[in-house]
Amino acid sequence: MDTIEIGSAISSAPGLTKGFLKVADLPDGRPMQIPVMILRGEAPGPTLWLHGCVHGNEYCGTFIIHETLRSLSARGLKGTVVALPILNITAFEKNQRMSPYEGYNGGDLNRCFPGQADGSLTQQMAHAIYSALKKHADYLVDFHTALTEDVHWALYANLPGEVGKKSEGLGRAFGFKSTLPAPPDILAGSAMMTAAKDGVPALIVEAGGKAASFSDQVVADGAERLRNVMRHLGMLEGAVKDHGKLWYFSNFAWVTATRGGLFQRAVNCDDRIAVGTRLGSYFDLHGEPSGDALSPHEGIVLAIHPGPIMGNGETLVHIGLNPREV
Ligand SMILES: [Zn+2]
Repeated sequence: MDTIEIGSAISSAPGLTKGFLKVADLPDGRPMQIPVMILRGEAPGPTLWLHGCVHGNEYCGTFIIHETLRSLSARGLKGTVVALPILNITAFEKNQRMSPYEGYNGGDLNRCFPGQADGSLTQQMAHAIYSALKKHADYLVDFHTALTEDVHWALYANLPGEVGKKSEGLGRAFGFKSTLPAPPDILAGSAMMTAAKDGVPALIVEAGGKAASFSDQVVADGAERLRNVMRHLGMLEGAVKDHGKLWYFSNFAWVTATRGGLFQRAVNCDDRIAVGTRLGSYFDLHGEPSGDALSPHEGIVLAIHPGPIMGNGETLVHIGLNPREV
């Protein structure tokens, strides 16, 4: 069995190996390092690479990854799971999307892959992570969250040829009803699209809401769907669950709030909406209705602001466009 070395996690035998990968230095000179878990099966098979907290306050994915790994053992596993459950560690500590130490261009880690060894902090982090991914990964699943607990959709890299077909296979095995076959020109710099362009089939999962907006049920569901992906890849025994037809949409639109106020949503994730559908209502400080938020697009609700208060420019709704059952 060959050795897989990712930072201080060095694995050359079946079982779970833990360690840390240094991705940068902290301003005080200590290493900025992220957790690494390598679970090697007793039988050969592919290497499934998992990312959590690419955005620091999207904790649900970290918990799905931990839950999944706790449920697996070397016996019965074919191949290897490599998990980086907390990529943007300093953002994670601060309960925010991006690193507090990034001073350049906002530092969205999911727009910085494959990274740059002498770039901005976030580009350097991406470089350290992606160098390891490129060396070892056969498949990538990258976990994100959106606004509320009921968020559940996915997007796979819809590239020509085998890599696109295999990416679609990941999406169907995960089986979230709302799924975007992502064209190559969106999410440039995401780990998903960068890996796929390098030949690694890749899926982004959006499960649960940011910070604490998720439940044990969302975590358990995500872990079971991930195990279904592993059955699909031949890494685990058992029948692959067929999730049936999915709603494929063609792209998505972010709609931001152009006013503020107390806000109560009127739609849920996966609801089909038309132009003019009431998304929610505003109220003034005396509790009087002060207007409705109406949808500017037809499509499917991927995420909706939970309220109770809205500021100008906040994400009001995220809509999947042109859904069709496939
Ligand atoms: Zn995210």
